[in-house]
Amino acid sequence: MFKNVKRILSVLLSLILITSITFAMFTTSASSQSVTNNSYTGEAPKYVFMFIGDGMTFPQIASAEAYLGKSIYKDTKVGIQKLSFSDFPVTGTSSTFDATSLCPDSASTATSISTGNKTLSGVINMDVTKKIKYKTIAEMLKEKGYKIGIVSSVSIDHATPAAFYAHQPTRSNMYEIALELANSNFDYFGGGGLVNPKGPKGDQPDALEIARSKGYNIVNTKDEILALNSQSGKVIAINPILDKDKALPYEIDRAEDDLALANFTKKGIDVLDNPNGFFMMVEGGKIDWACHANDAGASIQDTLALEKAVNEAVQFYYKHPKETLIIVTGDHETGGLSIGFAATGYSTFFDKIGYQTRSFLEFDNKVITPYRSYISKEDAKLEDLLPYIKAYFGLVVSSDEEASKRPGMVLTDYEVQKLRDALAMTITPAKDRKLNEAEQVIYGTYEPLSVTLTHILNNKAGIGWTSYSHTGIPTAVFTMGAGQELFNGYYDNTDIFRKLSSILKVN
Ligand SMILES: [Zn+2]
Repeated sequence: MFKNVKRILSVLLSLILITSITFAMFTTSASSQSVTNNSYTGEAPKYVFMFIGDGMTFPQIASAEAYLGKSIYKDTKVGIQKLSFSDFPVTGTSSTFDATSLCPDSASTATSISTGNKTLSGVINMDVTKKIKYKTIAEMLKEKGYKIGIVSSVSIDHATPAAFYAHQPTRSNMYEIALELANSNFDYFGGGGLVNPKGPKGDQPDALEIARSKGYNIVNTKDEILALNSQSGKVIAINPILDKDKALPYEIDRAEDDLALANFTKKGIDVLDNPNGFFMMVEGGKIDWACHANDAGASIQDTLALEKAVNEAVQFYYKHPKETLIIVTGDHETGGLSIGFAATGYSTFFDKIGYQTRSFLEFDNKVITPYRSYISKEDAKLEDLLPYIKAYFGLVVSSDEEASKRPGMVLTDYEVQKLRDALAMTITPAKDRKLNEAEQVIYGTYEPLSVTLTHILNNKAGIGWTSYSHTGIPTAVFTMGAGQELFNGYYDNTDIFRKLSSILKVN
């Protein structure tokens, strides 16, 4: 009898143990997927804005806020100045991994946001076998009668904007993407141009002409763009000033009276506003490009340009508070940006970023390229470039007449040597350079002198970088308006689509 009781007890104990392990396993696997509220019962908003800062997550936002804080508090106090959208009523966090990597790309992450599916890096709105096409939130809303706008500060056929209207096995199918744009019937495209409107060899029918034949009004002067309104019909508005990648200039390089991302956002509202509502996606695409190059000054200014674009939506929101939803997020982090650096310890000096007047790219194009064209490898010397280094990045050598007025900006011997080494590499044209493993880490694929200058300036400010690629840091999701409460918590980027489709009542 006693033996039997002991046996029963032992079986019961094992059962309890197995049950608790199974429960633990179940709860562990459940928590590795997101458990978040994706169902909305309120009325669908009529006006939806989705802002995507490419490469913009917490570090990019925090560095812009620290930079603004420094200009307000000066030396008297430590503080930040929040961006308008980081003060939105609801803040969430989303994971960004894709089917390829924890460090995903913009094609797959935008596919997650616009369709709710994970896919491979580089794939736009198709599954991992590259056979099944996914319908996007923008296409679903177009069918429901919303007008659709797509805006970007990089080319409008780039991965993030394309992920709202195109379906391609690779983001490099730029011509096919341009054709999908021309055939999308979306109502407004604004910002950058098309990379390959006539195909990679330039021998295909012009995608812009095809768009024109489909009824698009194509404008590319400042006056025409500023004159756009609700009577303009379907519009493709291309910035009159584009770089070689058909993108707007970096915000830090933009002339004051040239068009900015905020202008294209405001014009989008003017073109799209109608009684059936609209959906507009606006990408701040050059935050990513600046962070790939490890240029914090350029990243901060492009983040502030995105904030100004968001503020256009905020003004609209206050006219239609019950019918508007604004979402501001990023697709992934770029560069491994951090506030804090090994050599500056617990101190930061964000005021030093204020000395930078132009992006790394302007320094490449306006200083390095001309210098390399006339100077021989033997004659190249850092002293020739010191006036430009001072003008572009504020950095000076100890013998400079202004050295005593800007002590934190004086180059140390160690830094001067780094610049001499970088110049020796930069003076060799890129195609003839052979970088060893250590040089690949310190220069990436960038112009060695420029990237060394941004590294030195950023490090002096207390800013560090760990990569020239994307990283796996989660991203922020700020929301304001109808349905905002769904965006609280920590969820996956695919849930952004699920929340939106519930809020907008699309399947
Ligand atoms: Zn990128």
